[in-house]
Amino acid sequence: MPPNIGVLALQGDVREHRVALGRLGISYRPVRLPEDLEEIEGLVIPGGESTTIGRLAERFGLLHPLRAALADGLPTLATCAGMILVAGSIVEGDQPLLGGLDVVVRRNAFGRQNESFEMDLDVKGLDRPFHGVFIRAPWVEKVGSDVEVLARVGDRPVMVSSGRIVALSFHPELTDDSRIHRLWMEGGGS
Ligand code: GLN
Repeated sequence: MPPNIGVLALQGDVREHRVALGRLGISYRPVRLPEDLEEIEGLVIPGGESTTIGRLAERFGLLHPLRAALADGLPTLATCAGMILVAGSIVEGDQPLLGGLDVVVRRNAFGRQNESFEMDLDVKGLDRPFHGVFIRAPWVEKVGSDVEVLARVGDRPVMVSSGRIVALSFHPELTDDSRIHRLWMEGGGS
């Protein structure tokens, strides 16, 4: 039986993650309410707008249950806005975060000149490069001692993991390559 994977379905590229999981034969459950969390064995937090996702999570009563689930070690794949949400803290601004990952993240870190770009990345655990799609992407400014860096752009970490959380600045759901979803499902990076 494939595991039950939830996708936080408040805002952002939820449908694209559903397609990426579907390619691996995994059906997803949308997570919109606290009770949806009880059914799942893994969670995807999609790209989108982290401030909006955080505020909607607050409004739907999901903020505390999500924080508790992440603190309890729920396997989580967090992409782009998702990476911001699972950070312990961000460099600037005040917005609701879920935490779970001992990193400091900088939002929109690549600057206006590089708002969106694509590049092939070497990812630890994958045998050939992964095409990274970056859209107003964050990077990891500081990693805690239990956090492993899985990919970088220059010297900036753009994919990290700790325990069963994998967080990345780019969007594997916007390519037709599900290797990162598979790596996460198989416990890669931990
Ligand atoms: N810059 C966005 C944010 O702060 C993230 C962008 C994305 O998910 N593509 O949430």
